[in-house]
Amino acid sequence: MDLLEYQGKQLLERYGMTQSPGRAAHDVDAAVAVAEEVGYPCVLKAQVKIGGRGKAGGIKIAESAQQAREHAAAILGMDIRGFTVHELWVQRAVEIEDEYYAAVVFDRSAKRPLVMLSTRGGVDIETVAAETPEAIATLHVDPLTGFKPFHGRRLAFEAGVARDVVFAVATLLGQLYAAFCGEEAMLAEINPIVITPAREVLALDAKVTLDDSALFRHPANAALTDLSDADPQELMAVERGLTYVKLDGDIGIFGNGAGLVMSTLDVVAGAGGAPANFLDAGGGAKADSIVAAIEVILSDPKVRAVLVNVFGGITRCDEVARGLIEAVRLLEPAVPFVVRLDGTNDVEARELLTAAALPGVVTEPTMDGAAARVVALAAERSA
Ligand code: GDP
Ligand code: MN
Repeated sequence: MDLLEYQGKQLLERYGMTQSPGRAAHDVDAAVAVAEEVGYPCVLKAQVKIGGRGKAGGIKIAESAQQAREHAAAILGMDIRGFTVHELWVQRAVEIEDEYYAAVVFDRSAKRPLVMLSTRGGVDIETVAAETPEAIATLHVDPLTGFKPFHGRRLAFEAGVARDVVFAVATLLGQLYAAFCGEEAMLAEINPIVITPAREVLALDAKVTLDDSALFRHPANAALTDLSDADPQELMAVERGLTYVKLDGDIGIFGNGAGLVMSTLDVVAGAGGAPANFLDAGGGAKADSIVAAIEVILSDPKVRAVLVNVFGGITRCDEVARGLIEAVRLLEPAVPFVVRLDGTNDVEARELLTAAALPGVVTEPTMDGAAARVVALAAERSA
């Protein structure tokens, strides 16, 4: 789960990281009130889960209440590469002398956290990483010894950090690492760390990604979930405990098991079609969960035809057929279904479907055949 900048900052604050004071605001009046509170100049920052906000015009400095109002009105509701701005973070502006970059990530191949530090932080760190990777000092941390103060100093010297702020930068790295481990993050990144003319070291931005599988150990973090920008079908699927990913095409996919669903996507693409989603009903799906899943697929207005591809193992095909019959009777879909059932109780399943004689539902014996059929049906409907 990605956190918004200010959620990340609040999390890092608990580990002692120094930041410029600020508060979040949901509307223009609230933003102006925070601006008045923190004083001028202040910065208004779009809170969206994507970087490059500065370049996109989502970060503005205000010198007065009047300007704060103008900027807040301009940024709220703005679209930043597909993300709508619903929230602002308003903080006291700081003077910047230098911009550094720091991050802790998982290096899966090394099986260790990797700490990175560069004195060339700011909005162009991607270019630095691509063109001059040696400008980024790195260190793998042995999880048993942890990140020690001397590690921080070593990185600071290697990165060429100004002498007078080496200790402060090393301290910040220690806090970043502690937060990364303590909150079970996958990524904790500060870009930029700023050095002010008074030689203060502050975290000006924060990007934190938490491990979803560990959220149950961190109820306060789990509560941070921001659903305002989530896709309606994905929300519906989350509520129903389904594994669902929305895609761009027009063919709804229902399968059981991630491997089967993935190969179904491939076969549909191979037949010239474009899947509208990835829906894995999992093993042992029962009739009512099938109705719930079909409802999610049908709620996507882009869907022109649905392919049900089930291989019965633990899942019994007759159970899927029953769920499907119930779903079609209940939801009365306006789009055709192509069904391929194979494996445990498949004969019984096909008999059930034949007996039900559902309008708009056809069965196909093979996966390739089913894919070709559903692609043809979707194409007919788009013509
Ligand atoms: P990003 O563009 O999404 O990475 O957002 P950041 O929070 O990193 O801000 C982008 C840039 O805006 C920073 O690198 C700074 O140059 C500038 N900026 C942000 N806050 C301040 C501030 O308080 N004072 C000044 N002078 N510049 C700021
Ligand atoms: Mn940034």
